[in-house]
Amino acid sequence: MIIDSHIHCGSRLSFNLISPLLEKAGIDGACVFAPVEDIYDRYDPFFQDTPQWIMHRKEANRYLLQLSKSQPNIFPYLFIWNDFDYEEISLGYRGVKWHRHEDEPVYNYKDKRCLEAIERITHLKIPIVFEESLENTLNFINNLAPNANIIIPHLGLLNGGYYSLEASGIWKKDNVYADTALAPLQHIKDFIKKYGTSKLFFGSDFPFGEPATELKKILILDISDKDKASIAGENILRMLKHGY
Ligand SMILES: [Zn+2]
Repeated sequence: MIIDSHIHCGSRLSFNLISPLLEKAGIDGACVFAPVEDIYDRYDPFFQDTPQWIMHRKEANRYLLQLSKSQPNIFPYLFIWNDFDYEEISLGYRGVKWHRHEDEPVYNYKDKRCLEAIERITHLKIPIVFEESLENTLNFINNLAPNANIIIPHLGLLNGGYYSLEASGIWKKDNVYADTALAPLQHIKDFIKKYGTSKLFFGSDFPFGEPATELKKILILDISDKDKASIAGENILRMLKHGY
């Protein structure tokens, strides 16, 4: 079974658009997150949360939850922001998306609810797709969420870079995983050589990446078919099964 572990989907980026792309590429299912634009105003570094945005965020997340009810291989993730609405997870979300670039509004890491959310996510063993600055990534993994299942998207391209993370030693940790979305082939090969294939997940980051093109990067690797199957779907399915 082939699963794209990183796809953005929402009411303005609907599943009807995505479904034929997956089918054409021979992909059986996907982990889906809301587009960042539905979660906070990424273009305003001083953005403060409002009741309207909280509502908007809940709707964007629930769109995916609803979608998963009619699509058996669609795994909805809760895109979490500063209301740390972790109570929603129990509705059936299979993972959490956490996302911020350097110039974007910040997560309130000192909020009590932030720590409660991390505790809940760790307890449920569901994955967090975690994209943040290098400093916040290292603090999150080493101090705030040392036992959570953390997936670093793009092999770290937007978390300070693959080799910075390599130098920090975090790729060695048993609970730190990576997805291949938009990652250079060179980083994918280096990761496999050093850490094996069991901690790597195929992802496309649609609409920024194209599922068929991104899948091809895995299929052309000089590794066994068994290892390709692990990266293309088995690894993420195993993690999703252990969640809850
Ligand atoms: Zn993404």
